[in-house]
Amino acid sequence: LNLFILVIYFFFISSAEVLMNTKTETSDLKWTVFSHARPQWEEVSGLDEENNSVRINQICQTDSSSSHWLRSGYIQRRGASQVYVELRFTMMECSSRSTHHRSCKETFNLYYYEADSNEATATNPPWMENPYIKVDTVAADFLLRKDGEKKLNVKTLRLGPLNKRGFYLAFQAQGACMALLSVRVFFKKCPPLVSALSSFPETIPRTLVQEAQGVCVEHAAQQGPRPRPPKLFCGEDGQWVGQPTTSCACVPGFEPAEGYTRCTACPVGQFKSGVEGQCRGCPGFSQATNRGASVCECRPGYLRAESDTPDTPCTRTPSAPRSIIPKVNFTTVTLDWNEPLDSGSRNDLSYAVRCSLCRSPKETCLPCGDGVSYRPAKDGLLGHRVEVWGLLPHTTYTFTIQALNGVSQLSEKEPASESVNITTSHDVPPLVSVIRKSDSTESSLTLHWSVPTQPHYTILQYELRYCEKEQRSEDQCHSIQSNRNQAVLTDLRRASQYEVQVRARTQAGYGSFSPPIIFRTLPDGRDSGSEFLVPGIFIAVGMLLLVTFAQENKTDLQVKEARVKVYIDPFTYEDPNEAVREFAKEIDVSFVKIEEVIGAGEFGEVCRGRLKIPGKKENYVAIKTLKGGYTDKQRRDFLSEASIMGQFQHPNIIHLEGIITASCPVMILTEYMENGALDSFLRLNDSQFTPIQLVGMLRGIASGMKYLAEMSYVHRDLAARNILINSNLVCKVSDFGLSRFLQENSSDPTYTSSLGGKIPIRWTAPEAIAFRKFTSASDVWSYGIVMWEVMSFGERPYWDMSNQDVINAIEQDYRLPPPPDCPTHLHQLMLDCWQKDRSARPRFAELVSALDKLIRNPASLKIVAQEGAGPSYPLLDQRAPLALPPCASVGDWLRAIKMERYEDSFLQAGFNSVDQLAQITTQDLLHMGVTLAGHQRKILSSIQTMTFQNKSTATVTF
Ligand code: AMP
Repeated sequence: LNLFILVIYFFFISSAEVLMNTKTETSDLKWTVFSHARPQWEEVSGLDEENNSVRINQICQTDSSSSHWLRSGYIQRRGASQVYVELRFTMMECSSRSTHHRSCKETFNLYYYEADSNEATATNPPWMENPYIKVDTVAADFLLRKDGEKKLNVKTLRLGPLNKRGFYLAFQAQGACMALLSVRVFFKKCPPLVSALSSFPETIPRTLVQEAQGVCVEHAAQQGPRPRPPKLFCGEDGQWVGQPTTSCACVPGFEPAEGYTRCTACPVGQFKSGVEGQCRGCPGFSQATNRGASVCECRPGYLRAESDTPDTPCTRTPSAPRSIIPKVNFTTVTLDWNEPLDSGSRNDLSYAVRCSLCRSPKETCLPCGDGVSYRPAKDGLLGHRVEVWGLLPHTTYTFTIQALNGVSQLSEKEPASESVNITTSHDVPPLVSVIRKSDSTESSLTLHWSVPTQPHYTILQYELRYCEKEQRSEDQCHSIQSNRNQAVLTDLRRASQYEVQVRARTQAGYGSFSPPIIFRTLPDGRDSGSEFLVPGIFIAVGMLLLVTFAQENKTDLQVKEARVKVYIDPFTYEDPNEAVREFAKEIDVSFVKIEEVIGAGEFGEVCRGRLKIPGKKENYVAIKTLKGGYTDKQRRDFLSEASIMGQFQHPNIIHLEGIITASCPVMILTEYMENGALDSFLRLNDSQFTPIQLVGMLRGIASGMKYLAEMSYVHRDLAARNILINSNLVCKVSDFGLSRFLQENSSDPTYTSSLGGKIPIRWTAPEAIAFRKFTSASDVWSYGIVMWEVMSFGERPYWDMSNQDVINAIEQDYRLPPPPDCPTHLHQLMLDCWQKDRSARPRFAELVSALDKLIRNPASLKIVAQEGAGPSYPLLDQRAPLALPPCASVGDWLRAIKMERYEDSFLQAGFNSVDQLAQITTQDLLHMGVTLAGHQRKILSSIQTMTFQNKSTATVTF
């Protein structure tokens, strides 16, 4: 903004103000005359050059010895400092005068005398120079001759500086013969001026140059940080000097016009946002319907962000993101999407993720809580991908991706968005088991494969990975996607071996790759028949028969033959070390860092540590050690767990990382499970999980057990203590050691000596206790006990009953009652697992689908049996509170229901005896600091049971 160098159109016009003019006087002038001798100045009427009648003062001296004065009337100065006197006069030529004498003059003198009022008299001031001030001696340019041309002189003289209010003019003739035809007194002033958008008033120059202050013209304003009024100088000659100093500029909506003398409003359809420049046409998608617009309004449906300048076009909110592709991996979801078709003509597109949790289709969805994390972020995403983790397992979520830009906040409309529903899982897609070749040429292979039929999975796609065998390295591997269970590999090398693996993708993400199978392309153009090579640990039919365990069902076996890998007992190897070498990877001890001891195992400490295999990501691991001084047999038994575990590959089976046998101590490394053993974890978090979360855990365990059963592996020791749980609440089956069953080895009272080994009585099916009939069906019995442990948050099965009492009770068809708040459907499943006839018990596959059904229909988990109104089959009934002696204290009762942590609160609140408890309300519990809903329920339902118990006599207790 540099208004000081505006081009100025400057007009040198001046105006004059007349103080006196004899021409316009209508009456006699009656000026004062003085002389010592005759003749005097005399006033006569005459005609001027335009023949107007004027008053004339004239004199014609015959000698020059005396002065003849003529003094004007008092002339007001009116602010002028310099005044001009214009004289018109005629003068006789001396030589033409009849009375010519030596002292004849052709000049006269002009004087002035300043006075604040009309104070002069005939005698005062004295007629002489000083006090009169002489202006000049005025000589005639044209002289009159006898019979000559009548030509008059016009002379303008300047006098000043004047200080008093007025002055007199005085003419002194000393030998002249002349006529003063007119006297005009005036001063010059600078006229009003508009220039450079500044307006200056008429200005009288009181000094040589007079500063004049102006103002900005209408619709203009001073600019700059310290605006000063416009300034211009008025010259003493009545002319403006130089250029104005001004910072005036037209305000927004107005532009300079007519040579910077006016500010005119911008016409309709134009705008001017700042002070500089001219009006311009409205930018795209905006309009100015009135004159004088400083900004153009956006057309309907268009917006301008706060940061957008008025000269940018108006824009819109973007359209919705497109085609969200969710990839669910257990409790993690990756969402990918495409950018909107319409960015709203802006380049500040971003995305936000909204997550809501819908417990059932009927209930309203709630926003996901703080437990859900987003990478890279939840809002302000610039890319097209977000990873969300920390979701609850087996839960349906709705994810909404909103497309946003700089104007989204201003829009009244909700941002355009696209949503997907996903259901988290503990599952991974099924393993693709058999890959067969249906055709091959020298450059192609046509392959197909099968997957176990599992109705609750929908396979979305397969990924096939193939590597050329000789140069196996990551670079030589390729992968292709297929929507069907077949694919054609092309552009292959002739007579080459290719290792092929397939994996399936479901909504839960990708499953594991199948074991690699090798196929060969033809050496020439000849076709080949189907070919099926058995790789590494993939067991062919014949071998399967050799190593198979007790299989109760022939048809089962046939199905397995066709597609499932089978577990090999390491003790069937002549040298069990061979099995270790085969199934467990040796790890270099330098890759392992042990950090802390986390538990005690059968053979030594269990530690947490980190495993960093070069080229791979560092992972936490659990490290089981074999303490020093072991026998060969102990070493073998210890490592047998690794050679069993190493055969399993399932998300609900603890994963073996490897073993260290080359150095001491010998170690087994497994994946690290942050929350440790499930039984203690549940006891620690009593009542803090919802039934759906608990069912999620049970579902994982059932899924792992299903896998083991399909592998023909019988666990024999399925119990909550042998389930590990990680930070995502994923449960995994562990403890594959055989040693604790070996009689001499273990001192753990859980394992009771029986014929041929030790048995965990409370978890074991009666046929296994009675005649060591361990099968997947006996594992199902144990699984029922695990369900009970989970639903009662780690309660000890059959409480403190003795093992013998348990055996007797089971024999008499008593079964564990539903734990507090246990959904009826779940207790029913437990009872199914505890059927005496093992063939009547459900298979793990059935348990998995039954649990899936409950998860899909969470309302079914709301049905909880009324205490005391149970079904008629013989059961063990609700126990702990019912067994209280009549005089039991509040403390005894709280301990019995494992709520002893609240004992002090109850006593402080005045509940000293069990009798007082009947009146207790949720409100009372809250006052006592029992804030967990689960604990409130447990306490209240126990009180209810006690109340019921007092009225009923028909309850069976141990
Ligand atoms: P175990 O000998 O397998 O019964 O292990 C003994 C204890 O060590 C378990 O009860 C757990 O508390 C702990 N533990 C064993 N394996 C792991 C693991 N993979 N992650 C975390 N803790 C483990």
